[in-house]
Amino acid sequence: MEKGLISVDRWGQESQAYFLTHLHADHTKGLSPQWCRGPLFCSPISAHLLPSKFPGFDPSLIRVLDVGSTQCLSLHSHTAGSQVRVVVTTIDAHHCPGAVMYLFRGEFGCVLYTGDFRWELRSKRAMMGKKTLLEALQGDKVDALYLDNTYCHPSFSFPPREVVAEQVVDIITRHPNHDVIIGIDTLGKEDLLLHISQALGTKIWVWPERLQIMHLLGFDDIFTTNSNLTRVRAVPRYSFTFDTLESLNTIHPTIGIMPSGLPWDSKIFNNDDKLHQYAYPVLYSEHSCFSELQEFMKLVQPSIVTGIVSSSFCYINPRHYFSRLNNFNYEKAESLKGNRNKSLLRRTGSNRLKVRKEGKFKIAGLSFHRGRVAIMRKERRGAKIAETDALCTSKLNVKMG
Ligand SMILES: [Zn+2]
Repeated sequence: MEKGLISVDRWGQESQAYFLTHLHADHTKGLSPQWCRGPLFCSPISAHLLPSKFPGFDPSLIRVLDVGSTQCLSLHSHTAGSQVRVVVTTIDAHHCPGAVMYLFRGEFGCVLYTGDFRWELRSKRAMMGKKTLLEALQGDKVDALYLDNTYCHPSFSFPPREVVAEQVVDIITRHPNHDVIIGIDTLGKEDLLLHISQALGTKIWVWPERLQIMHLLGFDDIFTTNSNLTRVRAVPRYSFTFDTLESLNTIHPTIGIMPSGLPWDSKIFNNDDKLHQYAYPVLYSEHSCFSELQEFMKLVQPSIVTGIVSSSFCYINPRHYFSRLNNFNYEKAESLKGNRNKSLLRRTGSNRLKVRKEGKFKIAGLSFHRGRVAIMRKERRGAKIAETDALCTSKLNVKMG
């Protein structure tokens, strides 16, 4: 795609149209209440939540794209000196509220940007997303795919979210006299909390800013900031530490549940570190696991694929595992990669990863740096486009047609 037409989740460069996949902080870095570079396209839920995250954001710059819809944009090609059509289809990403993927089509070909997504095809929503995607592709393949590679490694395997949600209910039920804290982010995992609330017939405590978001999402009666009304509390992920759990247990018996795709192993921490005996990690992820990524890759069969997560706790290049697929242009993809990917881990063999520094630990055959993992969990860094210029720069009017 020509430079200067479109930017996705990148806010630092001039572009004619800016697309937001979802409102997690690692996708909005550079966006601010004073934003004035150009029109911002997003889903209806993201548009609804945007002013709460960026108070004072100019609403005239927001362009709402219905999920499942296809729209045509008229942009200006500086190369050709004329208008160009970009057809964009908005697809449910089944990640956090408002999260979408974008499929762009035009003379440049077919470009799919997944943002963060979960390809959990046993769910009705994901099946609808698949249907939208296939209809938009019209039998064609994707030329360039920008993929959520958060868990792009065969070791990452986790059950569907509804299965894990039942496990969480079971854990809480087995501790009837304990308080419960659950680590969550400022957006996401709402379905898990709703399931717990319905299954146990209880309200769930959230912090005040999170309650505001819950109300914006339409959940008026389930969540509360009154800790006297419930023993189940959803707390900011960064505050969920083993020290916190130990402190809470000096006051009242408390268990902690951490929903994540990263398989914490208590035995590992018990060796030389402390994992509180009441910490329960559960494999509840809003990112696709490896087998789901494989299914997705088989479906869209991209000519080029680039991982959008360039500085996560575990950057893994999707090209490493999916290069065997038909039409996959490894050399071209490698040239697109650039040198911006900052990995905490280095691949040392076909299936092995090695940590650069001291303080490493192993999970499911992978090595991780404990301190860096904690930092990354806290800061929620992660998704950035790996290369610099694939989708960007220039300024002009954007017309919907
Ligand atoms: Zn996200």
